[in-house]
Amino acid sequence: MAGSIVLFGPPGAGKGTQAGKIVEITSKPQVSTGDMLRAAVKLGSPMGLAAKEYMDAGLLVPDEVIIGLIQERLQEDDADQGVLFDGFPRTIPQAESLEKIATVSSVISIEVPDDAIVDRIVGRRMDPETGEIYHVQFKPAPPEIEGRLIQRPDDNEETVRSRLEAYHNQTAPLADWYSDRGLLIRIDGNASIKQVGVSVERAISRIL
Ligand code: AMP
Repeated sequence: MAGSIVLFGPPGAGKGTQAGKIVEITSKPQVSTGDMLRAAVKLGSPMGLAAKEYMDAGLLVPDEVIIGLIQERLQEDDADQGVLFDGFPRTIPQAESLEKIATVSSVISIEVPDDAIVDRIVGRRMDPETGEIYHVQFKPAPPEIEGRLIQRPDDNEETVRSRLEAYHNQTAPLADWYSDRGLLIRIDGNASIKQVGVSVERAISRIL
C-alpha cells in the first residue's frame, strides 16, 4: 500500500511498542518525531538544545521545528512508498502541513484513559543497547538486562501531567479532524500489549 500511516494516541498509549509490529507487517520505516528530537538532544545541536527545554517541561516543540524535521526526513529514499508516523502530527497545523507533502492513507488511534497513562509512563524503562521498552510492572526486563535500563527524563509524574494536558488541548482535536476525512480507525488501547497488538494487526489487515 502506498501512502503513510499515522499512529495516533496519548503519551504512553503504546505507540512505540506497536509501531514495531506495523513496521514488520508493512515494511514502512518508522518516523518518530520524539526519537528524532531525542537524537538531536543527544548530539547537542542548537535545535536539540532548544527542543529539550520544551520536552523537559512536557510541552510541544514548536510546529515549525517539527515540520522542518519531517520535510527533511521525507526526502530520504526509504520514504518513497510512505512511512509510519509515530507521535506526529500532534497539532492541526502539523497535519495541514503534512497534507501538502505526503498522502496519509489511514490513522490508527490507540485509545487509553488518562488514569491508566500515568502508571504506564512512570514505570516505563528503556534498554539503551537495543531501544526495547519495558515496564517495571507490566513488562519486566530479564534480570541480565534490568541493571542497564534507563528512564526517560520526561517520564516523571509531573511532566506526564503537562504532556497529558498538551495532548488534550492540542493533539486530541486531530482525532475529529482525521475522522472527518474518513481516515480514523479507533483501537482500544486499555488492554494488554498482546491484546492491543492483535487489534493493531486486525486494523492493518483491513487497510492493506
Ligand atoms: P514522544 O516520544 O512522542 O512522547 O515525544 C516526547 C516529546 O517530544 C513530547 O513531549 C514533545 O515535547 C516532543 N515532541 C515529539 N513529537 C512532537 C510533535 N509532533 N510536535 C511537538 N512536539 C513533539
